[in-house]
Formats: sequence, structure tokens, C-alpha cells
Amino acid sequence: MPQLTPNKNNTQKSYKRLRLILGDQLNAAHSWYRERDAQTLYVMAELHQEACYTQHHIQKICAFFCAMENFAGALVQAGHEVMYLTLDDTCAYSRLTHLLQDLCIEYDIAAFEYQQPDEYRLEQQLEAFGVEIGHQAGRQSVAAVRYSTEHFLLDHQELPTYIKPAQHNRMEAFYRKMRKRFKILMDGDKPLGGQWNYDADNRNKFKPKDIKAIPEPLVFSNDITSYKKRLIKHHIKTIGFVADELIWPVSRQQSLAVLDYFCHYCLPLFGQFQDAMTSQANDKWSLYHARVSFSLNSKMLSPQQVINQVLKAYHKATDTITLAQVEGFIRQILGWREYVRAVYWVNMPQYSQQNHLAASAALPSYFWTGQTKMQCMQHALQQSLDYAYAHHIQRLMVTGNFCTLFGISPDEVDAWYLGVYIDAIEWVELPNTRGMSQFADGGWVATKPYISSGNYINKMSDYCKTCYYDVKQKSTNNACPFNSMYWHFLDRHKDIFKNNPRIGMAYRAWLKQETQQQKALLQRAQWCIDNIHQL
Ligand code: FAD
Ligand code: SF4
Repeated sequence: MPQLTPNKNNTQKSYKRLRLILGDQLNAAHSWYRERDAQTLYVMAELHQEACYTQHHIQKICAFFCAMENFAGALVQAGHEVMYLTLDDTCAYSRLTHLLQDLCIEYDIAAFEYQQPDEYRLEQQLEAFGVEIGHQAGRQSVAAVRYSTEHFLLDHQELPTYIKPAQHNRMEAFYRKMRKRFKILMDGDKPLGGQWNYDADNRNKFKPKDIKAIPEPLVFSNDITSYKKRLIKHHIKTIGFVADELIWPVSRQQSLAVLDYFCHYCLPLFGQFQDAMTSQANDKWSLYHARVSFSLNSKMLSPQQVINQVLKAYHKATDTITLAQVEGFIRQILGWREYVRAVYWVNMPQYSQQNHLAASAALPSYFWTGQTKMQCMQHALQQSLDYAYAHHIQRLMVTGNFCTLFGISPDEVDAWYLGVYIDAIEWVELPNTRGMSQFADGGWVATKPYISSGNYINKMSDYCKTCYYDVKQKSTNNACPFNSMYWHFLDRHKDIFKNNPRIGMAYRAWLKQETQQQKALLQRAQWCIDNIHQL
């Protein structure tokens, strides 16, 4: 057995109970921590398995490790017995369960407790481990007990009553149920203000005068030197820009500060500019978005807490914050976030295998370098590599749109999204990427593919003005690749989509075009496919 040096925070030779805390289970309000018990050992570990199950952005791994270590420190301060293991301590263990097995023996553990993992692969692993340690021949058996993470609004067991497997479930219907059940933005049993959805009031483009007013993101200077050194020492391959200091919130206090900053400076215009994109804002790269996804997904913040804080800000400042902005934001947390989690769990493991459009192309190398002549792609990719962040529309209508139009294999798309974003954990990444963005689930999340020509990108951004390609051109040598690829996609998938009522208009527009024009568009698209690596 490799040497597992006891931390200064756990000095005993044996404990009754071992409680595992995973890196995305940093919920300080969990009922586990209400009482201190000298017989309970909390274990947190930096693991090769977690750092390598996909190639992550370096800032993402550092953010998780740093937030974990801060959380462990807070538990010690509160008087709990904690063992924090670094990559140095765990390097001999390729699997988490081997480490747990050794810890159970070393510390004479009688009960192993864990919170339900949010990722299927970890849930399966810990479930199997629980069975294994319960029936150990010739050794004392260990009882395994699973707890809720006490994070989401819906309990895990309730998910199948909200979402049916292998079929489309309307997010809007789900969201209305959630509003009623949790009594959020309700006036009795009617929606506050008389409307469920204020989308029509939202979604503007930035005018040049708006750019100046965009607030700078609240960033931090967290020291990540030791994590970076450990990643190099243990040959962990990463992607993205290696920042000197980490700007992301890595403690509950920093997370609360980001939330507070959002409510004060961004919420008043959140919905209005939710879908807008610009390459002119430079260091104001997160625009009016909240940047709370990492804090939420690591559970440093709870969804209820975020909703309460936003409602509080709204009630305090109804003259500057409109219901449309608040509803637009709450729909993301109460609606989309809980919805994609339910879609994930009722459809796993088959969800991760879906490839309805039989897409098989490889991702071009600019996804890792940002070097492309397409300005929209360049900006979204560079920002993702620099900050491990892009907002929803950049993910959906720029990079995601590109991948759908070019028929990139959903496995490749998933791996990239899962690796690059600070907030990417499979339960939330997979339904968004494979489902909403790539339509690889055949419509379980979206009723039609989220695709567009360059027109949409031009409508919502200023990218096209400075692009090498011409958004007005369709089939010339300098024509925007999105234009011809849009028609190519519709044409190559006509058997699947021609009877889809939500996309029928596009097919009618395609059939109305002259044969010569259709031919020219398909030829230009074929050129783009053949030259995808040089675009
Ligand atoms: P805001 O725009 O300020 O929104 C507030 C919060 O709402 C977010 O923090 C998030 O918790 C929630 N939210 C908004 N949209 C969604 C959604 N579609 N699904 C779930 N929650 C949502 N989000 C992740 O947390 N992890 C991912 O791995 C992830 N992958 C995505 C992949 C694709 C292809 C797409 C289209 C979206 C993905 N999203 C993902 C959703 C969304 O893009 C991010 O939650 C958001 O950009 C995070 O930034 P923010 O906190 O500034 O969000
Ligand atoms: Fe993107 Fe096309 Fe506009 Fe260039 S012209 S920025 S490729 S949409």
C-alpha cells in the first residue's frame, strides 16, 4: 500500500466513519457539517482520475483544486477531522476506489459515506465500491451509505416524475411547474406580471454606445502556483491559457461577492443583452452575464440562494431592475439548470451514445489555438481558451452551430466542451452539447436543430464587420462559411427534417431557389468541408 501520510488535520489512528467529499460537492450548508464528530474523517483528494478523464482547461483544474483546499480549510476551522490529499499523495492511485479501499483499511473504517455524485460515471463507480466493501471475504465489511447533496431544488428520486426518458419534454412546461411548486415569481397561481416568459422584451444587440457602459467582470487574484507545479510534475495534460493568477471565485466568500456584483451591476440589463455578442468589449468579456456557473456547479452557491439573492435585489430596486430581466435570469436557474439535470439522469447512460445525425467529422485544430479567419469563431474560441468561459450564445450559436453545420462527431464536441469550460461537468454539459446544440439526441431537448446562417450572428454581434469573410455573400470565394453550410445541412438531412413543422419554412425557401443557386451553394459548402482546417 502506498504511504498515505496523515494530514496535520487528522491525527487519530482510526475512525468509525469515512466521508468522501468530491470536488464538486463544496456545499458548506450540508447537514453533514451540523455536528462535529471526532470519529468521522472527511476525505478530499486531488485525483489523477478526475484530472484526466478528459483533457481539461488548466484554469478549470486549478479552480477545482483551489476551491477544494479552501473548503477543507473551512471544515478544519469549524473543528472537523479532515484529510486533504494532493496529487503528490494520490499519484500511485489510478482509481478513486483503490484509494478509498486503502483508507478504509488504514483507518479501520466501519462506515463509508458519500454524497450522490452528479456524474453517472462516478455514481456507478461509488455504487459498485459500496457493494464490494459490503462483502469483503476475510476482512471486516464496511457499510456504504449514500446521501443527497442537498443542492438542487428537485430531489434525485423525483426526476422521473418531471421528465420522461427517450422523448422530448418541453422546458417551458417544466419551468412553469417549478415556478408553481417553489412559488417563485408567482401571484397566487398566476405568473407575476401576468406572463410566464418575457423573452420578447429581451435579446437586443449592443449598439456602439452600449459597449462603454458594460461593467468589467469582478475578478480575483488567487494564487495557483502550487497546483500548476503539481500538474506539470504529474504529467497532467491540459488545454487553454496558463494564467499567473486565477480570476475565478474559489471560496464561498468570493462566490457571494460575484453574485452580489452581478445583482448590482449586471442584472438590470441581463435579459436585454443576454444573447448579444461583441469583439469590442475587450476586458469586459463576460458582458452582463453572472459568471456564477462554477460556484453553482461546485456547490459553493446553491440555486435557492442565487434565486433568493436575485429576488431580494429586484424587490429593493424595482425602479432599475424590471421583471423581464429577473424572469429571464431565474428561468436559467430554476428552469434550464434543473431541466438539463433531469434530462441527463433519466436518459443515462444511453444519452452519451446518441448520434441521431450520424455526425463523424473531426474538430479542426483551431478549437485549441483560436487561429481561424472566421471572426466569430476566433473570438469565441480565444475567449474560451483565455478564460475557460464563453456565454450561452457563443457556445450555442457560434461554436455549437459551427459543429452542427459541419457534422462534427458529438463525441469530439462533448470532449472539447467538457474540457474547456470552467463550469463543465457532464450532467450539465452533455444535454446542452449533445442535446440542445448538436441535436444528436434526435430532439429530446430541442424540437429543431439550433442552426443558422451568418445572418443570425451578424444580427446579434459586431463580428462580421471585421471578418475576413463576407456575411452578405453566399457562394463566392470570400462568402461566410456559415451561409452555404446552413443550406448544406438542410439538404443533407432533408429526410430527417423536411416534415418538421419548426423548420419547414427553411425547406420551402431552399426549394424556391434556382437549381443553379442551389448548386453553387452546395459547391461552396463542399469547399468549406474539404478545407475546414484552413477556414
Ligand atoms: P448566465 O448567462 O449569467 O446564466 C446564469 C446561470 O443560469 C448559469 O450560471 C447557469 O447556472 C444557468 N444556466 C443558464 N443556461 C443554462 C443551461 N442551458 N443549462 C444549465 N444551466 C444554465 N452550463 C454549465 O454550467 N456547464 C456546462 O458545461 C455547460 N455547457 C454548455 C454547452 C453548450 C453547448 C451550451 C449551449 C450551453 C452550456 N451551458 C453550460 C449553459 C450556459 O452556457 C452556461 O451555464 C453559462 O454560459 C454560464 O455562465 P454564467 O454563469 O455567466 O451564466
Ligand atoms: Fe462569422 Fe460569417 Fe460573420 Fe465571419 S462573416 S464573423 S464567419 S458569421
